[in-house]
Amino acid sequence: MRRLIDDGGVSEDRLPHPATGEHFASPVEPGSGWPGDPADDPGVPAGDELALLGAQISTCRRCPRLVTWREDVARGKRASFAGEPYWGRPIAGWGSPDPRVLIIGLAPAAHGANRTGRVFTGDRSGDWLFASLHRVGLANQPTSVHAADGLELIDARMVATVRCAPPQNKPTTEERDTCAPWLDAELALVSDRLEYVVALGSFGWDASLRALRSAGWEVPRPKPKFGHGAEVTLGAPHGPVTLLGSYHPSQQNTFTGKLTESMLDDVLGRAAGPG
Ligand code: SF4
Repeated sequence: MRRLIDDGGVSEDRLPHPATGEHFASPVEPGSGWPGDPADDPGVPAGDELALLGAQISTCRRCPRLVTWREDVARGKRASFAGEPYWGRPIAGWGSPDPRVLIIGLAPAAHGANRTGRVFTGDRSGDWLFASLHRVGLANQPTSVHAADGLELIDARMVATVRCAPPQNKPTTEERDTCAPWLDAELALVSDRLEYVVALGSFGWDASLRALRSAGWEVPRPKPKFGHGAEVTLGAPHGPVTLLGSYHPSQQNTFTGKLTESMLDDVLGRAAGPG
């Protein structure tokens, strides 16, 4: 919707989406045609609770600091993306609605998912992650550039524990707790067939355990310790589910060699199974 007066919510500078060429404000207005926008009206079929949840998440404004940050980043942009519109909204879960593997990360990157509107898409962490997912058979292609690039997850789903990009990639404890109900709700809708949960980083590990425990799953006490390759069996209502830990594919870990491609392939390959 074109605004006659700037109301402070949406920038008037509309820029073309890198794939579709359609022009969007930054942050993107819900339902304005962005590829894969969960809040797109025709994209939310009646009775589809997961789609409804995604639409709700994608318009959430519960955390004032994060709303300000994600939208300021969307308007300000990084110089290398100055010609693109930025999503600037929360990032909904993405992938199979009925997954065997659930991958849980920390939070969207300011110039990655906060720009492209899709989890892990458009940043170096995502480059690593999707390349590995493709190698082990959980993604149909190795690259992830924008939300209209044809990438699909195979029997897998991906979520962030905190759905908005935080400053310095560090959500506060209060923001983590404020966002937790979204993960709880998503877990309740997508866990019937789950066999593996892959937690990226210790934050993802802790958030996974918290969410799975609050969903009524049997989680050992004391809390299982995070490590790369850590594995623990959890009791879900439908049967045992294996939680796997992986170092987060952040540049800090991949540049320093703390996480190598073969280490990531090892963990994701265990979740993918012999295929
Ligand atoms: Fe909403 Fe979560 Fe974003 Fe907070 S972090 S505004 S709870 S989506």
